[in-house]
Order: sequence, then structure tokens, then C-alpha cells
Amino acid sequence: NLNFHPSGQHFLQIPGPSPVPDRLLRALSYPTIDHRGPEFGALGRQVLGGIKAIFKTNSPVVIYGSSGTGAWEAALVNTLNAGDTVLMYETGHFATLWKEMAESLGLKPEFIGLSSYESWRHGVQAEMIAERLRADKAHDIKAVCVVHNETSTGVTSDIVAVRRAIDSVNHPALLFVDTISSLASADYRHDEWGVDVTVSGSQKGLMLPPGIGFNAISDRALAAHKKATLPRSYWDWTPILKANETGYWPYTPNTNLLYALSEALDMIAGEGLDNVFARHKRLGEACRVAVQAWGFEIQCLDPKVYSPVLTGVVMPEGVDADHVRKVIYQKFNLSLGAGLGKAKGKMFRIGHLGNCNELTLMAALSGCEMGLRIAGVPVNAKGARAAMDHLESSASQFGLSL
Ligand code: PLP
Repeated sequence: NLNFHPSGQHFLQIPGPSPVPDRLLRALSYPTIDHRGPEFGALGRQVLGGIKAIFKTNSPVVIYGSSGTGAWEAALVNTLNAGDTVLMYETGHFATLWKEMAESLGLKPEFIGLSSYESWRHGVQAEMIAERLRADKAHDIKAVCVVHNETSTGVTSDIVAVRRAIDSVNHPALLFVDTISSLASADYRHDEWGVDVTVSGSQKGLMLPPGIGFNAISDRALAAHKKATLPRSYWDWTPILKANETGYWPYTPNTNLLYALSEALDMIAGEGLDNVFARHKRLGEACRVAVQAWGFEIQCLDPKVYSPVLTGVVMPEGVDADHVRKVIYQKFNLSLGAGLGKAKGKMFRIGHLGNCNELTLMAALSGCEMGLRIAGVPVNAKGARAAMDHLESSASQFGLSL
């Protein structure tokens, strides 16, 4: 029924797109300007410069009018040649989709990971990467691709360990990292961690609507780009980087999203990137406290790599997680993330990213707790209380007073 309008606010608690702050919505509504005029150049230079601080890089960051998937493709077609072997690690659904893309582009992905579903419950095992690269004496593997925050599971991966694994065997493969759901939510350092291409998107930590994809590019990636021969046109870094020198694009850029990006950069600078990370960490902790108090397993089995962005909530055997999500949506106007791929129906995902705070988290947890009971799932209905207690008791540790 298209006329049905549920009362109150919609709680968009999926792990991206995240709720867009009013300030950004207003920026999106500014009049579109001439993308070849002087005013635009100033905006272009500002966002192209400002975004580097978020990636923690001094290298160029290309901004595409695309979703994150486009930025995945851009990383591959700009640096590789048909038939190249790429080593990709299975952390979950998004790692799997990136692997399928590599196949469709004529690359030869080798997909490694723990056995079966275990890989969907742990982060990247860097020693497996080292082992595979050590055996590659001929250096056939041209790139290693990993997802920093696997959005389908709520598991992060240790990128420093992956870099160390590559260096430990003196392998020349490039390192590509997907930060689509971690950028501006979890600590990430393109330069310091020695990443060659960082892929990202606008609709998660940056709080923008979908529609911007990013590639942060190291000198080594640029050197590979000069020789790479996979077909590319729209994604080609060369004409974009040339036009970007003066703040422009070789085609019509998404002007209004760039207004919002400029505003988001201001908001993040105002809060301080480290404070943004601490806020996510704290909300993630409180969410996990609730899930454990309910009596459910967290999808991530390794506490060292719990995601600060989202929590995967595993339903007991025989409970359809999609049914639970549906009940919660219908009763409370609250959207949660579905289990994807191998996790379909087994779990749901609570997003706690972007423009979120204690009260948005508590709304989500309360909605879950009530919905679980309505759906008839055996649950210890003390999760929301436990999360509040945790928020209170952990406040000083985060430099807050509650
Ligand atoms: N990679 C990760 C880790 C993601 O979370 C997503 C989307 O949720 C993607 C890739 C695909 O990005 P998009 O849906 O913006 O194309």
C-alpha cells in the first residue's frame, strides 16, 4: 500500500546507507552550479583536498559518481592486465562479490579463507596470505584484495598484518583494501599501512546518500596504472587526475553530492576523527553487550576484530532471522540488515555507524528486544537495560561524563 505512512521517525539501522544528517540534506538541496565555472573549481579543490585527511593519505583520491561497486571495478581495471592472478580473501558476502567481479573482468582470482562458514566468522588470517605468496616464486599474483570491514558479518580485518604478510615474503603484489563500510567509522590509514588502492563509498561513515565511490591511490598503484591494459574508460584515473589538478572532472560530476561531502568533512573535522572512531567503538560495545544479554551469539567469533560499525546477531537454530526483521520493521518502523549470501536467514545485522549516538542505538536495541518477543523468539529481555548500563559505566573510559 503506497499510501501507508507509518507514524514517527523511520529508524534506518542497516549498516549503510546510514541516516543522512539534516545538515547534509540541506547541502544537497543547494542549486546546482556550472561544473566548469570558477565557483565549482573552489568546491572541487576543497573536497579533493579535504577527503585525503579521512583516508590519511597525501596521495590522490579519485571521487567517482558511482556506488562502491564502481570503485571496486575502478581499482581493478586501472592497475591490472587480462589473466592476472589476484589473491582475494573470503571474509563474507562482499569479498565474494568482489571476487566474482574480478572473474567477470577476465582476471584469475584465487579465493582463500578458512573452511566454509568459519571464514564468515573471523577476520583475514594474514599468515594464509603470507603462505600463498611465499609459494608464488614466479610472482604471478599481482594483487592482494581484502575487505577491511566485512559488512555482511560485522568482522573487521587487521590490514597492518596483511601488509606485513606481503612484506615478510618480499612479494611485489599490490594491496587493495575495501573500506566501503569502515571509512570514517573505524581507524584506517592508507599511507601508514602501505595500502596501494583503498576503495570506499559515501553512504556509510561519511553519512552521505549513496552515489560517491572513492579510490585512494599509492605511487606504486599509479606506476602499475601506467602499464595496465584492462579496458577502461569512465573509470580511467589518468584524465580524472589531470582534471582534478584544478578542481574539475572530465565529465559532469555529481555536484550536489559534493556539496554534501564538503559539509560532511566539516562535521567530521568538528567532532575530530579520533572522537568519531571512539564513538563507534563505544556504541559497538554496548550493542554487543545487549546481544549477549539477550542470549544470542555474535556472528564475529574473534573479539579482537569485532566491528565498530555493525553487529551480526545470530538467531537460534530454527528461527528465521528474516521473519524477525520483518516483524520489527512492521511493528516499529525500524530497518535492520538482512543476513546475506551464506548467512541468509541465520542472522540479522544492527548498524551503528555514521550519524548515530546513544539514543539511536537504544532505539534500535529496544525495537529489536520488543520485536524478538513479539516474533516468539526465546530471548532474555534484559539486553537494552544491559546496554544502558554499559554506556553509563564505560563513559569515563571514553572521556565522557554521563
Ligand atoms: N563492499 C562492502 C564492504 C560493502 O559494505 C558494500 C555495500 O554495502 C559494497 C562493497 C558494495 O557497495 P555498493 O552497494 O555501494 O555498490
